[in-house]
Amino acid sequence: MSLKKGRVFSGARPTGRQHLGNYLGAIKNYVALQDEYDCVYCIVDLHALTTLETTLDLRNNTYEMALDWLAAGIRPQESIMFVQSQVPQVTELHTYLSMVTPMGKLTDLPTFKEKVREQPQNVNYGLLGYPVLMAADITLYKSHLVPVGVDQAPHLEFTRETVRSFNYRYNTNVLIEPQMKVTEFPKIIGLDGQQKMSKSLNNHIELASTPEETTQRVMSMVTDPARIRRTDPGNPDVCNVYSMHKVFSSADEVNMVNVECRRAGIGCVDCKKMLARNMNASLAPFRERREEFARNPDGVWDVLHEGAGRARAIAAQTIAEVKAAIGLAE
Ligand code: SF4
Repeated sequence: MSLKKGRVFSGARPTGRQHLGNYLGAIKNYVALQDEYDCVYCIVDLHALTTLETTLDLRNNTYEMALDWLAAGIRPQESIMFVQSQVPQVTELHTYLSMVTPMGKLTDLPTFKEKVREQPQNVNYGLLGYPVLMAADITLYKSHLVPVGVDQAPHLEFTRETVRSFNYRYNTNVLIEPQMKVTEFPKIIGLDGQQKMSKSLNNHIELASTPEETTQRVMSMVTDPARIRRTDPGNPDVCNVYSMHKVFSSADEVNMVNVECRRAGIGCVDCKKMLARNMNASLAPFRERREEFARNPDGVWDVLHEGAGRARAIAAQTIAEVKAAIGLAE
C-alpha cells in the first residue's frame, strides 16, 4: 500500500524528441510529482490519430519521447509509464462514457470548434469524441488528481461532469471525480522571441541536441529588437535570452546581464555564448542518461510494455466494476 497522497494522471501526445518548452512546461513537473503521488504517465497515441496526417513516424516518436522522459527522471519502478493504445480497455470505457455524453456538449466545446477551423478537410468522429476518450484515460486509472494549466481547466471540468453523469445514471460511485491540480506551467518562448516554443514553428531546442547544435541555436536567438549596435543599451525585460538566463544561469550572472545589458556593458554575442555554456552544462547529465538508455532500445520498450501491463491490471478491475454497475453481462 502506497503512502503517497493519491494517484496523478497525465498524458501527452507522442511528439518525438522533446524540447526545452516541453521539459520546463511539463516534464519537470512530472518528475517532481513522483515524490508525492503515485503517477500514471501516458503517451496518448490514440489521441494523436485525431489530427495526424501520417502515422509513419508514430512509433519512433513514441520511442523518442519515452527516452526523453526516462532521461529526464521519470522513475518507471515507481510511476506507471506506458502507451495508451496498449491498454485497450480505454476504448471500452470511452464507449460506456459516450452513452452519458450529450452530443451538443461536445459540438459546443471551443477546442472542437477550433479544430474544425484548423482541419476542415478532416473533421472525424475521434476529434468530436476526444474529450470522452480523455475522460476515459483519467477515470480508468481511478486518478485523484490531474495537473492542468489554466487553459485546460474546461477539459477537466468535462471529465468531472461525465463522471457525475455516469455515477448518477447507474446509481453508483465506481468512477472517481478527479480534482484539478492547477499548475502554473511557464510559457517558454521560442528562439524567435515571439511565439511559444514549438517543433512545428522550428523555434525550439531539443533536449537531446548536441552541445554544438545547442550553441548554434542559442546564437540564432532573437534579442531586444531595439538594440541594433553593440553600443546601444538593451532592455533585458523584452529579451528571451535574458528569460533563459533566469532558468539556466546563476543568480550572479542573471544580475550581471540585467545591469550590463542596460548600459551596453555586455554585447549580445557574449551574452548568448554565456547562456549556451550554462545550458549545455545543465543538460549534460540528461544527455548522458539519454545516451545510456539509447544504447538499449529494447530496454525502453520493455519499460513501456511493463508499464502497460500494470496499467492493464488497474484497467481490468475498473472495467469489471463499471460493467457490473451498468448491468452488462460478465
Ligand atoms: S545583452 Fe543579452 S539580455 Fe541584453 S539584449 Fe543582448 S542578448 Fe538580450
